[in-house]
Amino acid sequence: HAKRLGGDRQEVFRPILRPLGRNVIDLESELRKSIKEETLGVFFQPIVRLADKSVAGFEVLARWKHPKRGQISPSEFIPIAEQSGLINELGLYVLEKGAKQLAEWQQRLPMPQPLFVSVNMSSRQLLRHDLINDVKAILSRSSIVHGTLKLELTESVVMANPEYSAKVLERLRALGAGLSLDDFGTGYSSLAYLQRFPFDTIKIDQSFVRPNGRAARPVILRSIVALGHDLGMAVVAEGAEGESDALELLQLGCEYAQGYYFGQAMSAEEATALIRKTALAESA
Ligand code: C2E
Ligand code: MG
Ligand code: MG
Ligand code: MG
Repeated sequence: HAKRLGGDRQEVFRPILRPLGRNVIDLESELRKSIKEETLGVFFQPIVRLADKSVAGFEVLARWKHPKRGQISPSEFIPIAEQSGLINELGLYVLEKGAKQLAEWQQRLPMPQPLFVSVNMSSRQLLRHDLINDVKAILSRSSIVHGTLKLELTESVVMANPEYSAKVLERLRALGAGLSLDDFGTGYSSLAYLQRFPFDTIKIDQSFVRPNGRAARPVILRSIVALGHDLGMAVVAEGAEGESDALELLQLGCEYAQGYYFGQAMSAEEATALIRKTALAESA
């Protein structure tokens, strides 16, 4: 909103607004520039099958290396993009890059079970009428396997406008997009979302996955996994940081995990090397 301050008004408010407002405005225009010049990074964090640690797919994560300030966290620049509306350009950029990479992988490195890629969506993107056409165009111009381009939405994103979201999600699904419920368990009434929206995948939030000293943790984890599976959904655990996490998740019946133990967000080249390794292991 600071952006709307005009010349004269800015003069009046400058002494108070400068420290914070100025910084945000600079960051926003620099972020806009990095999207336009395609220097904004698009990285890939592996999602693996716990049974054999093979790569099943990747979550696409935006990475921004600021020319002066160095690496800036998405938790800082995504909110700035959301407030200014730039998230629509950013989201489309990440979606297009992610889809392009997925199509290339599926063509060059076909796997017994096709790879997937999953892209985060903000609520502004979901509520934008062009989203369906954008996804349709992306899917029709590439030969991506049905259901393997997934969109990740959190409960708060779909709940910003539940009626409209339910309709959009149905249409996206009909177009062949996959739908993942991100950060599951962090909202209010999680169970309702599983019935109401056509998700095919649940991603359990890392706060349930990482050891937190609570006795109920494995019980809750096991229940979420069973619930997902009974509803015919795939279940991914987020934030697996150690070998013991991976082992425990496997024992609880969870089939997919994502986390530093298996790999951080990496460049497309590094991700390609990892896929090659999985492909080799599977053909051996
Ligand atoms: P998210 O969608 O829940 O993404 C997972 C976050 O957890 C990522 O942080 C990832 O680096 C981090 N993570 C993965 N494994 C581990 C682990 O083992 N331990 C710990 N401590 N953290 C782990 P990141 O990349 O900083 O992204 C933060 C959030 O920013 C994302 O949360 C997502 O909501 C948002 N975001 C990132 N890229 C985009 C984008 O392109 N579009 C939109 N709309 N949001 C994005
Ligand atoms: Mg996500
Ligand atoms: Mg998440
Ligand atoms: Mg998150």
